Amino acid sequence: MKGLAPAVPGDSAADHARVTHSTTRTGAGMVLLLAVWFGLLTGFGELASVMSVTYILDRFLSHWGWHRVWMTPLADVLIFLVPGLLLALCARFWPHRVTLRTCVTIFSILGTLCLALFFHGRIHILALLVLACGAGVQTGRMAAARAAGFQRWVRRTAPVMAGLVLVLGLAVSTWWRVSERRGLARLPAGPAGAPNVLLLILDTVRAMNLGLHGYERPTTPSLERLAARGVTFDWAMSTAPWTLPAHASMFTGRYPFETRAYYRTPLDRSFPTLAEALQARGYATAAFMANAEYAGRATGLARGFLHFEDYVPSVGQVFFSSGLVRAFQWNRPLRRALRYYELLGRKGAEQINASFLGWQRTRTDRPFFAVLNYFDAHAPYLPPAPYDTLFGAATNRHYLVQQERYIDVVQPEVAPYVASELAAYDAAITYLDDQLGRLLDELERRGVLQNTVVIVTSDHGEEFGEHGRLGHAYNLHTSLLHVPLIMVAPGRVPSAQRVRVPVSLRDIPATVMSIVGAGESSLFPGQSLTRTWDPGKASGEATQEMVVSSEGDMLSLFSGRHHYIRLGTGREQLFDYAADPLEQRDLFNSEAGRSISSQFRAALPAPFAAGRTGTFH
Ligand SMILES: [Zn+2]
Repeated sequence: MKGLAPAVPGDSAADHARVTHSTTRTGAGMVLLLAVWFGLLTGFGELASVMSVTYILDRFLSHWGWHRVWMTPLADVLIFLVPGLLLALCARFWPHRVTLRTCVTIFSILGTLCLALFFHGRIHILALLVLACGAGVQTGRMAAARAAGFQRWVRRTAPVMAGLVLVLGLAVSTWWRVSERRGLARLPAGPAGAPNVLLLILDTVRAMNLGLHGYERPTTPSLERLAARGVTFDWAMSTAPWTLPAHASMFTGRYPFETRAYYRTPLDRSFPTLAEALQARGYATAAFMANAEYAGRATGLARGFLHFEDYVPSVGQVFFSSGLVRAFQWNRPLRRALRYYELLGRKGAEQINASFLGWQRTRTDRPFFAVLNYFDAHAPYLPPAPYDTLFGAATNRHYLVQQERYIDVVQPEVAPYVASELAAYDAAITYLDDQLGRLLDELERRGVLQNTVVIVTSDHGEEFGEHGRLGHAYNLHTSLLHVPLIMVAPGRVPSAQRVRVPVSLRDIPATVMSIVGAGESSLFPGQSLTRTWDPGKASGEATQEMVVSSEGDMLSLFSGRHHYIRLGTGREQLFDYAADPLEQRDLFNSEAGRSISSQFRAALPAPFAAGRTGTFH
């Protein structure tokens, strides 16, 4: 009758083996090896996900950079070593408690969670946790059932994966150096006496907070000294209220609705860039981007630069390259516990300057075109000491950062803290201005400044509740579009001049080509801004183009002293931006306002004039 007895767990040899293996003890060494192995495996899994989206779906992920091929596995190893060390300690002192199955289950849960966080935002975190726990328990059971084989496999493959990380790290570092050297070797000789071009982009710096533009706080002594040597544009307008489309316009001369560079869409190869044009004229080209997320290589902005720095390896960047750290980087309780409010891996102006000056020292044989993007005035506003208390050690300073409210709708309870955030923003601009002064002094000391076209501008401004919001990218008000623009080039640009008509940053490529002697290049649309100061050419408002900015299906036009905005809903607004720069008085419904608006309506650019609705990206 034995053969008819129902099978019960533990009866068969297989079940016996399973039970035995599930309680297999694991030494501290194996626990640590498992942590490293799972960390590496998770890192490569994360890379596969990110690279599939970037190179197969052709979407850009703002956190992708080539150094991630080694930084992500390394970051995951470091993260896995935290539970790994705790388990190893347990294994040392309570060897009966730590089994292979426990270790594999814990590491698998963590690994699956790291991979599943790729869908964070689309799938609820609790659902991801349930998925991770289910996968972890299952993997733990399977590993325990084949304990000896599994541990052998881990011992064999861990060194292979670690070696791969090392090789990838060396390959990435070497690849860029070699490709830059090769690119330089292929360049044609630069035209004799051609000036260098230095484009300094102060990310998120709005013109109205600059002493240069009459602001009550002395935020820009260095810029004012620089302005005395060139032309200052009182009303320079960006083409977009956020980083990528604005940079794309400055590099191509095209509007955002032409380049279509947007949150998940990189700048494609449809239009030539200024860096490509200058490289073709023999320039050594380089960019040093502190805003690595939205002005990094993944955005398509690197085209034409022989040397391009975005994500530079650092401890902060290593951790930032892990999906787990990124998902929880703004976790309020965690931030408060760590008392850490800074962006992980943020590159300060000092570092950007040092990188550029180091590169410039080795490029003295030909003219250079260099773009420096500074991220110091971007939220969270955390200038270093002693600048941090420059405009008052306001109580509750950084309240908004601590509350994770630095980019949000201004609720009544937040409003009282906006003034202290504005003081911190002003202090950050002052720090940046000081660093610009140091950079220019060093270039002067090196004898480079005399033959360099220096352009200082910003990609967009910032809002401090003027229209109910903090941060940028939500609307097309002057506070977001009005940016500084200074051009200095001894012997090529007049000194101490101010241009009072509105101009667009999209004219930068045409202007640079004109100043360096490449003529009114047909490569770039728009008009050279030399028209605004060249007495040989017609100047004044009559010759000005309509200054256009856009965001999605919102459009803004500047002309004369008026600013016309058409929202995606079709609603129209009109402001006298010169008299009312914070745009608190909408003139659209006045009789004069309707008449002026009809003139703007007649000048709408093609995609908007056609009456199409929807996003032009
Ligand atoms: Zn920006």
